[in-house]
Amino acid sequence: MSTPSSKVVIIGAGIGGLAAARRLSHQGCDVTVLDMHDSPGGKMRTMPSAAGPVDAGPTVLTMRPVFEELFADVEETLADHLTLKPLEILARHYWDDGASLDLTADKDQSRDNIVDAFGIKAAAEFTAFSARAKRLFDAYGRTQPDGRHQNGPAATQPDPRNGPASHDGGPAEIILQ
Ligand SMILES: Cc1cc2nc3c(=O)[nH]c(=O)nc-3n(C[C@H](O)[C@H](O)[C@H](O)COP(=O)(O)OP(=O)(O)OC[C@H]3O[C@@H](n4cnc5c(N)ncnc54)[C@H](O)[C@@H]3O)c2cc1C
Repeated sequence: MSTPSSKVVIIGAGIGGLAAARRLSHQGCDVTVLDMHDSPGGKMRTMPSAAGPVDAGPTVLTMRPVFEELFADVEETLADHLTLKPLEILARHYWDDGASLDLTADKDQSRDNIVDAFGIKAAAEFTAFSARAKRLFDAYGRTQPDGRHQNGPAATQPDPRNGPASHDGGPAEIILQ
C-alpha cells in the first residue's frame, strides 16, 4: 500500500503508463512519468499530413467500462471529461485496386459487406474469427479474480462482436472537453 511519501517512476507515457500514473497519484504517490518521445500518448497519437492530423493508432474506444473504472478510481466521472457518440461505421478500409469495406457495429451487416466485397468464403472466415474472439473475450472475463471486467451476459457489458463500446454497445467518437 502506498503512502503519501512513496516515490514512483513510470517508464512510458502511453495510455497504460498514464492510467497507472493517475491511479498512483490519486493514492498519494509522488509520480514521475518518463518517455523516450517528446510527447505523451504512445501509440495514441496523431501524425501531421497535408489534410491535417491523422490518427496513428487507436481511433475507437473499446471496453468503455474499463475507462469508467479508471475515472471512478480517482473519484472522477468519464462523462464529465468525454462526450461519447455512437457511430454506425466502425472502420472503412480501402485497397489499391479500388475495393473498400465498411465494418459496422452490426456484425450481420459487416458479414454482408464482406460477402459483397470479397465473397462468401471470406465472410465465413470473418464469422469464424468473430466466434473465436468471443470465446477469448468470455474466457478473459471468467479469469478476473477481482470480479471486475466480467464479460458475462450483463446488459451493461459491450459485446466485442458488435464493435467498440459506447452508450449502447456501438462504436463511439471521443470528444475531449
Ligand atoms: C494502428 C493501431 C490501431 C489501434 N486501434 C485501437 C483502437 O481503435 N482502439 C483501442 O482500444 N486500441 C487500439 N489499438 C491498441 C492501442 O493503441 C494500444 O493497446 C495502447 O495504445 C497501448 O498503450 P500502452 O500504454 O500499453 O503502450 P504504448 O502506447 O506503446 O506506450 C508505451 C510508451 O512507452 C514508451 N517507452 C517504451 N520503452 C521506453 C523506454 N525504454 N524508455 C522510455 N520510454 C519508453 C514509448 O515511447 C511509448 O510512449 C491500436 C493500435 C495500433 C498500433
